[in-house]
Amino acid sequence: MCLAEALLRVPDNETADLLIRDKIAPGDWESHLGKSDSLFVNASTWGLMLTGRVVRMGLAPEWNLQGAIKKIISRSGEPVIRQAIGTAMRMMGGQFVLGRTMREAIRNAREWREKGYRYSFDMLGEAAYTQADAERHLKHYRDAIADIAENYKDDDAPIHGRPSISVKLSAVHPRYEWIKRARVFDELVPVLTDLAIRARRVNIGLTVDAEEADRHELMLDVFAALLENPELKGWNGLGLAVQAYQKRGLPTIHWLIEMARRHGVRIPVRLVKGAYWDTEIKRAQEAGLVDYPVFTRKAATDTSYIACTNAIFAAPDAIYGMFATHNAHTLAAVDVLGAGRDFEFQRLHGMGEALHEHYHAIKNPGVPTRIYAPVGSHEDLLAYLVRRLLENGANSSFVNRMADAEASLDTLVADPVAALAEMTPKRNPRIPLPRDMLGNRVNSQGLLWSDPPRAEPLLAEMKKSLERLPLAAPIIGGREKADLPAPVTDPSDRTRVIGQVALAGPAEAKEALDLAYKAQGDWDRLGGDGRAKILEHAADLFEQNRASLMALIVREGGKTLPTAISELREAVDFLRYYASEARKNFAPQAMPGPTGESNELTLHGKGVFACISPWNFPLAIFTGQVAGALAAGNAVLAKPAAPTPLIAAAAVRLLHQAGVPVDVLHLLPGSGSKIGAAIFPDPRLAGIVLTGSTEAATVINRALAARDGPIATVIAETGGQNAMIVDSTALPEQVARDAVTSAFDSAGQRCSALRVLFLQDDVADKMLDMVLGAADELRLGDPFDLATDVGPVINESARETLEQHAEKMTRQAKLLKKLPLRPEHKNGVFFPPHVFAIESISVLEREVFGPILHVVRYSAGHLDKVCEAINATGYGLTLGIHTRIESTAAFIRDRVKVGNVYVNRNQIGAVVGVQPFGGEGLSGTGPKAGGPHYLQRMALERTFTVNTTASGGNAALLSSS
Ligand code: NAD
Repeated sequence: MCLAEALLRVPDNETADLLIRDKIAPGDWESHLGKSDSLFVNASTWGLMLTGRVVRMGLAPEWNLQGAIKKIISRSGEPVIRQAIGTAMRMMGGQFVLGRTMREAIRNAREWREKGYRYSFDMLGEAAYTQADAERHLKHYRDAIADIAENYKDDDAPIHGRPSISVKLSAVHPRYEWIKRARVFDELVPVLTDLAIRARRVNIGLTVDAEEADRHELMLDVFAALLENPELKGWNGLGLAVQAYQKRGLPTIHWLIEMARRHGVRIPVRLVKGAYWDTEIKRAQEAGLVDYPVFTRKAATDTSYIACTNAIFAAPDAIYGMFATHNAHTLAAVDVLGAGRDFEFQRLHGMGEALHEHYHAIKNPGVPTRIYAPVGSHEDLLAYLVRRLLENGANSSFVNRMADAEASLDTLVADPVAALAEMTPKRNPRIPLPRDMLGNRVNSQGLLWSDPPRAEPLLAEMKKSLERLPLAAPIIGGREKADLPAPVTDPSDRTRVIGQVALAGPAEAKEALDLAYKAQGDWDRLGGDGRAKILEHAADLFEQNRASLMALIVREGGKTLPTAISELREAVDFLRYYASEARKNFAPQAMPGPTGESNELTLHGKGVFACISPWNFPLAIFTGQVAGALAAGNAVLAKPAAPTPLIAAAAVRLLHQAGVPVDVLHLLPGSGSKIGAAIFPDPRLAGIVLTGSTEAATVINRALAARDGPIATVIAETGGQNAMIVDSTALPEQVARDAVTSAFDSAGQRCSALRVLFLQDDVADKMLDMVLGAADELRLGDPFDLATDVGPVINESARETLEQHAEKMTRQAKLLKKLPLRPEHKNGVFFPPHVFAIESISVLEREVFGPILHVVRYSAGHLDKVCEAINATGYGLTLGIHTRIESTAAFIRDRVKVGNVYVNRNQIGAVVGVQPFGGEGLSGTGPKAGGPHYLQRMALERTFTVNTTASGGNAALLSSS
């Protein structure tokens, strides 16, 4: 079993429940402790067992924990730290950074150093998005090591008493991500090893900082690689931060103990509670994870901290404990539990001063404290400062509660273990599981690629599913007509055949229309609830078959693995969302009116809809259109885009399997114009839903308008000329990340993709450097490779259009960036990301669908002109805004005519039911897909009025008295 698996074997339920119930008899766990080879296998059980022990310790009267805490935080019954908190708050901003340069920091550290405090220096700087930033941060670390060495020459303390540096790995590599594991090992591990060797030479510790839970596994792998390096062999200075709020916190400690013993070192472990709790909860919800990686109650985190503390103290040969806390209860608990042991406390520079000072005064001096001290210029301070402010502001935070004059001493020193023991449920009921967070419908299930026990089986299943060569043929009345099939090939490698397709012609289209027309009435009579049940069943089937569906999205649609899971989720969300909308809106609605009469309004399907979808979301948009039309009570002729019939056929089979009658839903793979010519003139076709180019929508609209008979409903979602406006207050790192994702994710083949980036003149150079630098970090390649960021474009004609546009732009504008193509791309239809500087958005005549970004500069004070220029394109699909000024965002919002506006994030990936999606003007007719008005547009309304007095009198009225 791999390490990852062992670590992830923490039970999915909120472990707090188990943490506090001492389920296992002491004899049991003691015998387990002896079996070191079963340690990984039993990591989770271990967690529980050891915590059981902690609980007993925590509650045992002889420890007199409460007394010890009260002694530490009170003087003559008056809490002194409360007063100090006010001061600490005032210090924020000005005093969170020890110095702007290392030299200044070392000078400022003198006072505390003389008092016996140790230091760990942290180089401020957010995650790097470009190689240049990563190198700049690395240089700061290297220089810092040299400066510290110089200034601590005379300090002859052993390594754990010497100063250290804390390294945030995301700051020293632009792609410190699980999906870039190979690169991280090739590039980050060597530079980090070099830093550690430098630190070792001058006897300075190096602690790796913990970041988001998504990076936990990767961090452990990197750490293990360093431990194994011969040049670091036997060195006790290499440390790691462990977050107690993570459910994997305690198993991580056990893993570290095992590693330390294997390598014969004593690992310094900084135990923290964790600073990204809110982010973790949000991310898990967005990603549709099975459960949260962190505890949902503060008391559970505090309990976990104590459990980890005990585990550390139980292995003094392997771990040197460094307990980072500003919480008096935690500090006291650690002090009591660690009596007689060799360890240290840590606090952040500018925080917890009074607490730690008071502790040393009482204990005279007690165990030493190390100050974690950020060093860096004020421009790098913001994100760090925000973290600290949030931490202090959170009402579950000890620091915050201390500042509350109303809080009694008893509440402040309450034992978290006891508090948790009393809580039912153990899980915070205000934070539902990601699956349940939407209330009336189940959220689609997602996945983290950094979760190998879940990701690896999925990948294996995907590969296996590709061994079969599927067939897409017209499916009419449930029968598949596989005449003269032709091969379907993979756009990332045209030599790879992935299936076969047989096309539908006019005869098949007419036959499908006949059957659909006859079957629609019964489908409509099934009612909203009846149809909803079938669509919900389909959603479940899609999830059960996600491996084969995702494999086709990747191989037939050329989409990367991360986009394939999002697409699968979007399809599932469409099914469940429209099901819930049908249930809600298609039940008969009683209308108010005079007594003696009943009035009812009902919605019904309009008839037969042709659902014509694009290839760029071959599952999600295909399914969304079909599910919407079906939910509203229509029969459907589904026409997938020519490049992606296999996915569509798989989706239709699952819909039939779920219970959609075979005469109600038909599949017509083939040429849009040929099929269109057969069905558009037929008055039995009630309407069309098209998602595709503005040009196709115009042609289809004309064809439908030309026919006699009932006027057809046309719902078109079309292209865009999407802009992002960046003002001078925007955060360059965020802009770089969001602009690059918006422009190049899915090889720019998203209708929402960013095409024109507007940069305010004053900051344009810096922003542009970051954007171009971040673009350099993208990798083109096989979309089935997790490390690939940009896959192929869909086909040769798409590439040709892109090449022509790029050639024209190279002549007329300035080429700023073009990523290289490599020999391994030769069999695929690849087109590399390009960036051009242009004078004005007006030089772009139409949407060019692919990875080409244009940049326009604008002067401060001309925002209104920018908005006008965007409106003048006639398109109105998506817009990104990056600003830290709310009124600027409001100013733009009031002026632009755009369907979906996103502030301070990327502008792609609208979520069904959360950001209903669709544009205006040349970008679409509305209603928005995944929004509350979609089904109504495909429905007609009927009323039913009954005179209930017709048979002689108003019985209801007469009996009412
Ligand atoms: P496309 O217009 O070439 O084709 C879309 C669909 O329409 C295909 O199924 C095609 O066969 C069919 N079609 C084209 N001409 C037809 C005709 N005369 N009669 C009947 N059917 C016809 O678009 P595409 O290349 O598949 O997709 C990319 C386009 O879709 C881009 O313009 C993109 O912006 C747009 N798009 C828009 C949205 C949105 O929600 N607004 C979403 C995705 C894609």
